[in-house]
Amino acid sequence: MQFMKSINPYDHTRIVNYPQMTDEELESRLEKASEVFRSYRTTDFSMRSACLLRVAALLKERTRMLAEIITGEMGKPIGESEAEIKKCAWVCDYYAEQAPGFLAARRVDTEAGVSEVRYQPLGPVLAVMPWNFPFWQVFRFAAPALMAGNTALLKHASNVQGSAQAMENLFLEAGFPEGVFQNLAISSDRVAGVIAHEAVRAVTLTGSEAAGTSVAAEAGRHLKKCVLELGGSNAFVVLNDADVGQALGTAMTARLQNGGQSCIAAKRFILESGISEAFISGLLERVAALNTGDPMEQDTDLGPLSSESQAKEVEKQVARSVDMGAELLCGGARDGTFYAPTILIGVKPGMPVFDEEVFGPVFAILQADSPEQALELSNLSGFGLGMQVFTRSDESVALFTERAEEGAVFVNAMVKSDPRLPFGGIKRSGYGRELSVEGIREFVNVKTVWIGS
Ligand code: NAP
Repeated sequence: MQFMKSINPYDHTRIVNYPQMTDEELESRLEKASEVFRSYRTTDFSMRSACLLRVAALLKERTRMLAEIITGEMGKPIGESEAEIKKCAWVCDYYAEQAPGFLAARRVDTEAGVSEVRYQPLGPVLAVMPWNFPFWQVFRFAAPALMAGNTALLKHASNVQGSAQAMENLFLEAGFPEGVFQNLAISSDRVAGVIAHEAVRAVTLTGSEAAGTSVAAEAGRHLKKCVLELGGSNAFVVLNDADVGQALGTAMTARLQNGGQSCIAAKRFILESGISEAFISGLLERVAALNTGDPMEQDTDLGPLSSESQAKEVEKQVARSVDMGAELLCGGARDGTFYAPTILIGVKPGMPVFDEEVFGPVFAILQADSPEQALELSNLSGFGLGMQVFTRSDESVALFTERAEEGAVFVNAMVKSDPRLPFGGIKRSGYGRELSVEGIREFVNVKTVWIGS
C-alpha cells in the first residue's frame, strides 16, 4: 500500500501516514459521484442552501480545532489559520444566499414565445488543490459548485490529507448526501486517469504552472472544461505621492501572510525614487521587530515554511539573484524549514526573484523613475494575477487601473480575494474565474431555451 506523508514543518513530527486509495476504491468513488449527481441535480436551492449554511455553522463552531489541523500540516501561524476557517464560513454563507439569484433563468426578448438562458449543473467536477490555503482554496471552489448542483471530487495536495478528510466529514455532517463531496486520497500521478474517466465532466486546478500545464493538456485531450488558478508575482508599487506609512503597514501583510507562500502575495516591490529611502528604512525596522517561531503560538508573526524543500528553493532563488547583483539588506539565511525574512535591493528583470514566483518571506525591491516606468516594470512579469499601487493621484489611479495587465488591480490596499468579487489571473497565472457571479457560472451548462409562439 502507498502512503501520503504529513509532516509538521515546525517540529518535524509525523502527523499521520495517509494510505492512498486503491484503484477499486477510486473507481467506486468516481461512480458514486456520477450516480449521486443524477438525484442531487434535482434538489432545489433551499435544500442546498440549508446544507451549506450548516457547513458554515460547523466551521464557526470548530474554528480552533480545524485551524490546528492547518497549522500542524503546513505551518502557518495559528491566527492566520483561524482567519482562513472564518473566511470559508463566509463563502458558504455568501453562496447559500446569492446562488439562487446568480443562477436564476434569464428571460431574453426575441421573436420567440419564450426565450431564456438557464444555468444547469455539469456533473462531477474534479478539484486539484494546493497546500498553502488548505481549506480556503477548496471552499471557494466547493461552495459555488455544490450550490450549482454539481458534485465535487477533491484531489488535495499530499501533505494536507488531514485537512482534506476533515472537509469531507464536514460536508457529510452538514447533511449533504453521501457522494456529493468526496475526497480522493491519491497522488498526483493518478490525476490524469481521473480526468480521463467518463464520470468526470470538468476540472479545476489551483497550483503551480507545471501542474497547470499537465492538467490543462489532459483536460484538452478529453475535451473537458478546465479552470486554472496558478502562480503569481504581484507587484507592490509605491509612488512618490503615496502615504508611505500606510504602504509600509500593508506591505508587511501583503508579503508575509502565510509565510510569504501565497499566490497573491506582493513579491516585487517597485518604489518610485522619491520615497524609496523612507520606505526601505521603515521596512527594515518592521522586519527586525517580527516575532518568528512556533506557529501554534498566538503571537507568532512568521512560522516555518511548509517544508524543507520549499525553504531550500527560496534559498536558491535568493542566492542566484545575489550572484546576479542584487544586494542583501537583511535575512538570506535558512535554518531547516525556517527562512529568515529577507530584503533585497537592486533587483532587476532577469533575476530569479523578479522572473520566478518566490514562495517565502522575501521583499525584492526595484526602483522606478516615474509612474509610467513603474507600470512597465510591473507588466514585465510573465504572471498576471494581480498588483497593488499606492498613490494619491487620480491620474496614476487611472494609469494603473487601465493599463496593468492583471486579473486584479488594488489601489491603496493589498490584493486579496473576496467572495463578492471575481478572482483569477491572466498570462501564466491561468484562466477562468472563481468567486462572485463569474465563479459560480464556470461550472454550469449555459443552456439556451427557445419556445416558438
Ligand atoms: P503544486 O505542486 O502544483 O500542487 C498543487 C496540486 O496539484 C496538488 O494537489 C498536487 O498534488 C497536484 N499536482 C502536482 N503536480 C501535478 C501534475 N503533474 N498533475 C496533476 N496534479 C498535480 O502546487 P503547490 O506547491 O501545492 O502550491 C503552490 C502553487 O499554487 C504556487 O504556484 C501558488 O502560486 C499556486 N496557487 C495559486 C493560487 C491562485 O488562486 N492563483 C492560489 C494558491 C496557490 P501532490 O501534492 O500530490 O503533488
